[in-house]
Amino acid sequence: VTDDPPGQLDPDPVFSILGNELRVQILLELYDAAREGRLGEDSIPYSGLQTAVGEADSGRFNYHLEKLCGHFVRKTDSGYKICEPGRAVARLLSKGTLTETTTFGPTRTDARCHLCGGTVRVAYVDQNLVVTCGDCSGVFSTSHDGGMLASIAVPPAALRGRTPTELLSLTVCQFEHGMAMMGDGFCAECCGHVETELRVCEDHEPVDTEEWDGSAPEEGDLCENCGRVIPVIAAANCQSCDRRRLGPPILAVGDTVIARRTLDGRVSDDGWERFAAIRWLSDGLGRTDDEWFLQYSTPDGGSFRVDGSLSVRGDE
Ligand SMILES: [Zn+2]
Ligand SMILES: [Zn+2]
Ligand SMILES: [Zn+2]
Repeated sequence: VTDDPPGQLDPDPVFSILGNELRVQILLELYDAAREGRLGEDSIPYSGLQTAVGEADSGRFNYHLEKLCGHFVRKTDSGYKICEPGRAVARLLSKGTLTETTTFGPTRTDARCHLCGGTVRVAYVDQNLVVTCGDCSGVFSTSHDGGMLASIAVPPAALRGRTPTELLSLTVCQFEHGMAMMGDGFCAECCGHVETELRVCEDHEPVDTEEWDGSAPEEGDLCENCGRVIPVIAAANCQSCDRRRLGPPILAVGDTVIARRTLDGRVSDDGWERFAAIRWLSDGLGRTDDEWFLQYSTPDGGSFRVDGSLSVRGDE
């Protein structure tokens, strides 16, 4: 739409909201009013707002309310109303990303490891759901204890009211949708431009890259070059907010009709079982003169390719 540099608010007022309890309270009251109110009835009168936040000192209340007015809060005929930047601050606070320090686990789930049949465990570390198996070395290497099966960023709000098994299921489900959005070229987090690529390990050790037929290699075989059991992965990287996702390449083309049909036709389970099975869905890698591609079979006997820039090429 525009290549002009975006209009920028000085960051100081943004941080001064988070650093001031009364300003946060005012925003949260107005946010609740906007959530509960019907269209056009989402303002709170001055006195009602002062009572709601419980600030007896009118001078102090007025001072902080004025600081929010303009960008975060708007004055209307019937009082004060939250604006989109104010909602964004309130949402960020309710998501827990900035404020919560929750960690747990590793905790056992009802899910089974697709490599060895062991119990899948989940831990919540640095706002990532870390999925491990205690009985095998997993699908990629990290510094975490146990075999790594997945590590996916998920906000603390996702933990509320959910069992470890439910949390695992919803986390891989949101990963599948988020990866499909990023594969479409825009960020699930910020709508910024996303770049995607097929990353291939040329010197893969557990199985020769060109010989790999898409199946799961022997458990315990992690490549010393790429640290993974299979030689290929899709990478998506937001150019605006730097959100990065690594995952099964078919998920990055998951919004195309042919990939959606293949996914739904060949992977019937949901939750963790679906996510785990998707890893072994391809028929292996091939290459043209200058680039690698992944080959897939469709349920009706056709085939398609996913190329180096994660674009789908039909029957060839
Ligand atoms: Zn295992
Ligand atoms: Zn490798
Ligand atoms: Zn982004």
